[in-house]
Amino acid sequence: MVTSSTGSGLLPARSTRPGQPRLVLHLLAPLAGALSRAGTALLALAVPVECPGCGAVDVRLCRRCAADLVAPAVRVPVALAAPAWACAAYQGAASRCVVAWKDRGRLDLTPALGAALGRAVAAALLATTAGPLPAGAVLLVPVPSSAAARRGRGADVTAALARAAARELRHQGLHVRVRAVLQQQRRVADQAGLGAAARRGNLSGALGVRRARSSGLPGARVVLVDDVITTGATAAEACRALAEAGAVVAAVAAACWTPRRRHPGTCSPGTISSPWPSPADEGRVLD
Ligand SMILES: [Zn+2]
Repeated sequence: MVTSSTGSGLLPARSTRPGQPRLVLHLLAPLAGALSRAGTALLALAVPVECPGCGAVDVRLCRRCAADLVAPAVRVPVALAAPAWACAAYQGAASRCVVAWKDRGRLDLTPALGAALGRAVAAALLATTAGPLPAGAVLLVPVPSSAAARRGRGADVTAALARAAARELRHQGLHVRVRAVLQQQRRVADQAGLGAAARRGNLSGALGVRRARSSGLPGARVVLVDDVITTGATAAEACRALAEAGAVVAAVAAACWTPRRRHPGTCSPGTISSPWPSPADEGRVLD
């Protein structure tokens, strides 16, 4: 309903011939529709879209790649203080989607990846909760990106992912809220080329809780969320920081998880492997 600026009724303000604007709009409507369609077509020509997973043209995310992302959630074989869950294996189409989303400006993929993360969170909560889920809100805490990464991407994409997952979960009736309480405390060295022990040392104390946002955190039930779980080194540091602030980290959840190539016997989800494997870690989290 459109009201006039004078609040006197439904007709446009300052109209001395009330029927004329409606007539003009009625006559212009088909033209406006045609121009809009032409504009969309021109935009598609100027900025062609394709599925980042398979390269299919004129589709932002094809059904098959979308289905790959929202795979059934699995327990990820990483050793953490809390169980880790994720959906898609970080390979093939799923990995290409994440890279396009995170580093190539395809932020329109946030809902699809958020759905995958939401499924992982739901599976984690169901697996770690005996009986009905608690009545109080579960806090989804995103792993923080560095300020440089946020500037480069124009957004805190992991926090956006957490919000998209929360929307999905609320549609399912789960009481969740996003609390971006973590921050990077100090700069860390590039993780590339570091062994497992060196990575732990590099990340030790790197994350902390923002004091201004820490109210209500002691005793709160938390799920740490991220886009990809690799070795879990960053997740472990985040869990440490949250536990230090008094939060109860019930689970870690991610949209994707990285099968570990150097430990073929531990690639299958659903088991807990030895701690701190040595393959490349998600140093990207503190990128
Ligand atoms: Zn595709």
